Amino acid sequence: MLAKNSISYKVLSIAGFPLSFIIFIGIICEINILDSDLSLFVYFVILRVIAIAFCTLFEKLIPYNTEHKFEKGELKTDITFYLSNNFLLIPVIAYFHVTVVRFFLESFGYENGLGLSSLPVYLEAVIAFLLMEFLGYWAHRLVHVNYFLWRGHATHHSPSSIYWMNNFRNNFMSYLVAFALVYTPMYILGVSKEFLILRFSIFMLLAPYQHINADFRLGFLNYVFSVAPNHRFHHSQNPAEANSNFGLMTNLFDIIHGTFIRGDHFKKDSKMGLFSEIEGYKKHDFVYQELAPWSKKLRQKKNQKLVPIATQRVF
Ligand SMILES: [Zn+2]
Repeated sequence: MLAKNSISYKVLSIAGFPLSFIIFIGIICEINILDSDLSLFVYFVILRVIAIAFCTLFEKLIPYNTEHKFEKGELKTDITFYLSNNFLLIPVIAYFHVTVVRFFLESFGYENGLGLSSLPVYLEAVIAFLLMEFLGYWAHRLVHVNYFLWRGHATHHSPSSIYWMNNFRNNFMSYLVAFALVYTPMYILGVSKEFLILRFSIFMLLAPYQHINADFRLGFLNYVFSVAPNHRFHHSQNPAEANSNFGLMTNLFDIIHGTFIRGDHFKKDSKMGLFSEIEGYKKHDFVYQELAPWSKKLRQKKNQKLVPIATQRVF
């Protein structure tokens, strides 16, 4: 860890995010997967390794929470979620989802959906990106206000401190909701595979940066990117803070809908995690967390306060 008052700490805090982001984009351009013999699997493994290397480097050199410690069973649970979600659940859901949607589109004679990909490439990219951000924003808000879905999403919010791997700590319902509500409309509109690959390439870095335990000072970039300094508010135990910053890659729709809080004002003594502790709630038990939406105990009225109640004010 660098000395907090050192020049290098300040430089890394301010320039670390934009510089690493530019380098990452440069690597994506250099590989140019759309015109390369590299398999998609190898390509995404390369990007993931680079993203993890950046995260590890910044968490070591400029940690935001210098006292971050794993609770009993936390790391094991995070690794289990990481492996099962990335190498099993997401590929399986993605395969079946695209197969089913394609079947229906072909049945109705719309093999290419409604033709979004036939637009000029830049126009398609802008429309598809904004639409995915919009749908992702509302899908995220939905899992905060529906009790059944929230019991799944609570898995993601249960840690009392966040770091890059928190991004992958998700109940399987989160991915079902994301594919159903975000990807289905995109396929129906006819988004191109090329756009999805490029968007996902950038997300490979921004996703772990959303939860990274690094002291990034973003300045005006807080208004653009949904990453750790501003996303920390979303994990706060304080309802007034947690009802914010739902964005996927950007904060655009939080700003538009009045749910944006700028990152620089998060107090270090603010606590993160669920709003209330429920006796017997096993936040570091993988199987328990996956089955949480059906938990009898969590379904009881008195335990529904597990839901961040403040989200009700936005509906
Ligand atoms: Zn959330």
